Amino acid sequence: MPRCGCQTAKTGDSTFVISFSRISCISRCGNFLNSKLKTKNSKLATALLGWFAVHARDLPWRRTRDPYAIWVSEIMLQQTQVKTVIPFWERWLRELPTIEAVAKADSAKIHKLWEGLGYYTRVRNLQMAAQQIVNRRRDEFHESPAKNQVRDSQRSSLRNLPAKFLENYDEVLALPGIGRYTAGAICSIAFNQPTPILDGNVIRVLTRLFGIAENPKEKAANARLWQLAEELVSHAKTQRRKKNNSPLRAFAPLREDNSCSHLNQSLMELGALVCTPRNPQCLACPVKKLCVAFAENRVDELPNLGKREAATARHFLAFAVECGGNFLVQQRPAGVVNAHLWEFPNVEITGTKPDAPAAFQKIFGVKPKVIQPLRTVKHSITRYRITLEAFFVSLAKRPAKTNGRWLAPAEFDSIAFSSAHKKLASAAAKSILSGR
Ligand code: SF4
Repeated sequence: MPRCGCQTAKTGDSTFVISFSRISCISRCGNFLNSKLKTKNSKLATALLGWFAVHARDLPWRRTRDPYAIWVSEIMLQQTQVKTVIPFWERWLRELPTIEAVAKADSAKIHKLWEGLGYYTRVRNLQMAAQQIVNRRRDEFHESPAKNQVRDSQRSSLRNLPAKFLENYDEVLALPGIGRYTAGAICSIAFNQPTPILDGNVIRVLTRLFGIAENPKEKAANARLWQLAEELVSHAKTQRRKKNNSPLRAFAPLREDNSCSHLNQSLMELGALVCTPRNPQCLACPVKKLCVAFAENRVDELPNLGKREAATARHFLAFAVECGGNFLVQQRPAGVVNAHLWEFPNVEITGTKPDAPAAFQKIFGVKPKVIQPLRTVKHSITRYRITLEAFFVSLAKRPAKTNGRWLAPAEFDSIAFSSAHKKLASAAAKSILSGR
């Protein structure tokens, strides 16, 4: 009988070893170890579900099983913190309460509702996916034999049935903007399917729980993590209803029809609240007795994310050009970062001494008489550390050959700016009020 505590497993085209000790296993471990892993996963599922029932945060999208609302929350939560997302999610659901409403909303509206969340490709993909779902509903109606058997009045009401979000995992995965994680999250949370999830929080929790030393981006380690996530959520499927005495948790009682949903959310929640990147609260952790990293004092080493790519500094000069109380703003083209959003004219500069008047002349073909510093905004996009240095320029006459719109500050709210340029818009509006 093997003593090492390891198990070999095959996922796709890769074979890997799940190690419960620091001794490497070179033999096939057999049923004994399979049952050991099953026992550990079963205990983990029980402990996580019990903990989640008491400690889950009361988030608005946890009060609904509407797949559309859950889908929107999952897309907004990509790359964005929970507290930032809440007001955006509430406003989105108020303004666009159905899939049809998203499908037919105009581009300016969806960008305005997303303004400030960043990563705007998400919102365009969301709309494309909504359009696909609505078109699919229309095709299903036209292909339906029942269509010819109903009276005209019934036909129109059938045609107007609301488009339903898809329940099939592969079909959800095929929608624009939805990857394996998001498809798993939607299908488990909205439909209680045992579909695994693996995001940054879950990777951190699982690598520590199972003592996985390999970089989770590597193919074999990644496959192993997905398999562990799948095994855990499958165990949850068999969990029975538990008594939950917490009066605050009426919104999250564990039922047989939400155990997969709760298991996946418990992994994310544990990563967000307890098993944090720095200073994890191991002593308060509900699964510390099952955690390899805790037992072996390796918590700080895991996950092994390798070396971070160094950030690249970039410097832009922007111009709040005012003429007759209006400012020139321009829309970013399709296919670039922050596509379709609005901004003040700007240019990237290289070298150590930025020459704002020369840059202005290069863009507008005229030399500014007076150019005054307006505001500097520093921010990061992906691996870029960006400095946006803005200047105020007042002109008596609009320059020829300028693209864009001239807007009064009161009209700024009608268009969607990128976050950095939103700050410049506010500074530009104040500059007019202060009679600069
Ligand atoms: Fe994370 Fe510590 Fe809990 Fe292990 S014991 S899962 S490292 S918080």
